[in-house]
Amino acid sequence: MVRQVVVLGAGIVGVSVALELLDRGFEVTLMDRKFPGEETSYGNAGVWTRSSLVPINNPTLWKNLPKFVSNRTTALRYYLPFLMRNLNWTFRFLMNARHSKVLETAAALDQLISLSMQEHMRLVAAAGEEKRLSEKGWMFLYRNPAGFEASQLTRDIFDRFDLDTEILDADQISDLEPSLNRIFSAATWIKDAKSIDNPGALVAAYAKLFVAKGGKFVQKSAQSLSQSGSGWNVTTQDGDNVVCDDLVVALGPWSPGLLKTVSINVPMGYERGYHMHFRSATGGHLNRPICDASGGYVLAPMEQGYRLTTGVELDACDAPEKINQFEQAVSSAKEAFPLTGPVENTPWMGRRPTLPDSRPIIGAVPKRKGLWLAFGHQHIGFCTGPGTARVLADLMTGQSPPIDAKPFCAERYLA
Ligand SMILES: Cc1cc2nc3c(=O)[nH]c(=O)nc-3n(C[C@H](O)[C@H](O)[C@H](O)COP(=O)(O)OP(=O)(O)OC[C@H]3O[C@@H](n4cnc5c(N)ncnc54)[C@H](O)[C@@H]3O)c2cc1C
Repeated sequence: MVRQVVVLGAGIVGVSVALELLDRGFEVTLMDRKFPGEETSYGNAGVWTRSSLVPINNPTLWKNLPKFVSNRTTALRYYLPFLMRNLNWTFRFLMNARHSKVLETAAALDQLISLSMQEHMRLVAAAGEEKRLSEKGWMFLYRNPAGFEASQLTRDIFDRFDLDTEILDADQISDLEPSLNRIFSAATWIKDAKSIDNPGALVAAYAKLFVAKGGKFVQKSAQSLSQSGSGWNVTTQDGDNVVCDDLVVALGPWSPGLLKTVSINVPMGYERGYHMHFRSATGGHLNRPICDASGGYVLAPMEQGYRLTTGVELDACDAPEKINQFEQAVSSAKEAFPLTGPVENTPWMGRRPTLPDSRPIIGAVPKRKGLWLAFGHQHIGFCTGPGTARVLADLMTGQSPPIDAKPFCAERYLA
């Protein structure tokens, strides 16, 4: 008997899982309230890189806490009442910034990122989307020696995990990125990073491949879940019931909301971020995405223009948008690169779904046969969707995943 599986969520994670399960012989229905790749997986900076193995809750976070008290930095903003209402998440997030814990997480994420980059390359070729891929790496830029020195811990972790990096001085930065204003004194160039010029379009192309291979996409909003015999039932907003043997929840930041309907509570933080596209005022261009560590933003060359993405705003998933941090990031970016625009009228807002240890959940829910989870990919989900799919599909078919899946198990949060 062919097993029927419903995958909820058609972001990069859900689409990758749906494709992988189809290849393993499941009958797969992919469900989303929107078209594939229109939410978080649309608006990210499009970077795939092993440098993301260092989670943002690392010992530097503790060191920088006094700086964050003013709540005015471009890198991090927070809405205090949200953090107070979610003390369980806040406290655990801070406790996981311990050095030993960070090394554990870095080792796990490095495995997932490396596997995902291989899997992405396979999918990019299968979807015929090689044109979207650039392999020129990406750069962390520092405006002064103090900023560079403050990032020493991150560089130590890069060295420990043997990343291909090069430290650049001001002249070397200008050689690689001649259109940047000369305000940076040092940079770390992550050489083996890759980038994509339209993340949403790539997810849509993977979804098209899924349908071309025989998968079924349905555009419906899932309202609640329930157990049904030996399988699962998804009730949609329009009152339909979709029954399956296995159910995968890959709803990114919205996963905890739906899981509450079956009394499963997951401590989730929402690292909200904004973006807008700009043009070059002078015709100069950037060859690769850059992260201005001192300015607290990322600028990435995209099909739609230069995409400026902001740092972190910790607030509730659907709280009203606030644009102060974004405006501050735009001023900083204009000091570095001659931007004009923006292309759109209002900024896009997305939520990086983050669990307290900054690792996604990939695996089975204890004591709920047939219910599988794949969410919580914080800053790295666009990169790690395909590796997540590979691990989850192995677990669902009783095979050994190519990397250790234990650091990602649901038992970390669900007894
Ligand atoms: C500003 C910013 C920059 C980033 N930069 C990078 C980067 O450079 N590299 C990187 O790897 N990652 C980056 N990320 C993180 C990355 O974008 C996310 O981790 C990733 O997109 C999460 O994918 P997902 O599939 O889990 O979630 P999503 O893409 O959000 O997909 C979830 C889907 O669930 C659907 N959905 C929700 N509720 C329901 C419902 N009730 N019924 C049906 N469907 C529903 C939504 O419509 C959505 O399509 C960035 C994120 C942000 C915000």
